[in-house]
Amino acid sequence: MNALGERIAALIAAQGPISVAQFMTMALHDPRAGYYATRDPFGRGGDFTTAPEISQMFGELLGLWIAQCWHDQGKPHARLVELGPGRGTLMRDALRAIRSAMPAFLESVEIALVEASPTLQKIQAETLSGFTPRWTTHFDNSLSDRPLFLLANEFFDALPVNQYVNTERGWRERMVTLDDTGALTFAVSPLTAPVGFIPANRQAAPLGAFYETSPTSTALMQQSAEIISQKGGAALIIDYGYGADAGFGETLQAVRAHKFAPVLDAPGEADISAHVDFAALTKAAHAGGANAFGPISQGHFLIALGIAQRAQRLQQPKERERLTAADQMGTLFEALAIMPKNAPLPPGFA
Ligand code: SAH
Repeated sequence: MNALGERIAALIAAQGPISVAQFMTMALHDPRAGYYATRDPFGRGGDFTTAPEISQMFGELLGLWIAQCWHDQGKPHARLVELGPGRGTLMRDALRAIRSAMPAFLESVEIALVEASPTLQKIQAETLSGFTPRWTTHFDNSLSDRPLFLLANEFFDALPVNQYVNTERGWRERMVTLDDTGALTFAVSPLTAPVGFIPANRQAAPLGAFYETSPTSTALMQQSAEIISQKGGAALIIDYGYGADAGFGETLQAVRAHKFAPVLDAPGEADISAHVDFAALTKAAHAGGANAFGPISQGHFLIALGIAQRAQRLQQPKERERLTAADQMGTLFEALAIMPKNAPLPPGFA
């Protein structure tokens, strides 16, 4: 076991089993050894690759999408926010496209980046030299006083999930505990989930079925939807996940050096994520008073925004293929848009 694993084991020995969400938070964000806190995970030498790291077209098209929404809402004095900007590549490409297509947007917005990792904040500052973004480590109240134009790619999949398992004695939370040898292992809580906690459509699930929920994600979605519905703005969320049919499996996964790895083995050394529940995000957006569009596949969305024409211009058919083809990122990844109730329809979702 590595040093962070030892510290998690000591915590469990002292206070009892921890939730999957708590494990995920420590593995990703522990200040000394957390995955995001300590490294740059992207690219070929890293653990995984994301759409903006594959092609500049991704950030360009998202930038133009958000600028168009701003234009359609009467060009308000606004804020452009990205959640979890990674290396800052998406924002850099977006700002470059916006600067040439709709420079007035740049003059009237404040750029804010929500990033927990000090390591990645530094890389973002280098990537975005020439701009003057401001950073927050989480979505705080300083982001709520203006129209909110929000981008998030592969952010919600990194937010912690709680898992529940259907057992003979009812739904119980899946916890992380210690086995006989002192190693980290999964176990089911002795406590039954409170009545009404498990959604009605899960009640008929077979034994062994899972229910995954991310209260952090839905709370954040509702908070942003409230700002968007009250002040104006738009949000575009792109991630891999599931829609209405959540299935009965669990989706927690660890990825290291572009391969799946055991989740509990080396906390802080592998990326840990879970599929995004788009139905839950949609519900949270409605609860915040906003409209939701989609989710539609990333492939469809990018094609509707004109990726074919842009790819031809740049002579990058391979990059277009990777972002849109069904057997690559085109179907696995989906796009969800959040808009104020009275706003014009968002581009690409018609
Ligand atoms: N959007 C980027 C990076 C995706 S990885 C891209 O597409 O390439 C997830 C990003 O979210 C990282 O920058 C990570 O540090 C950040 N992140 C993860 N959990 C976070 C949290 N709870 N609060 C703030 N940032 C977080």
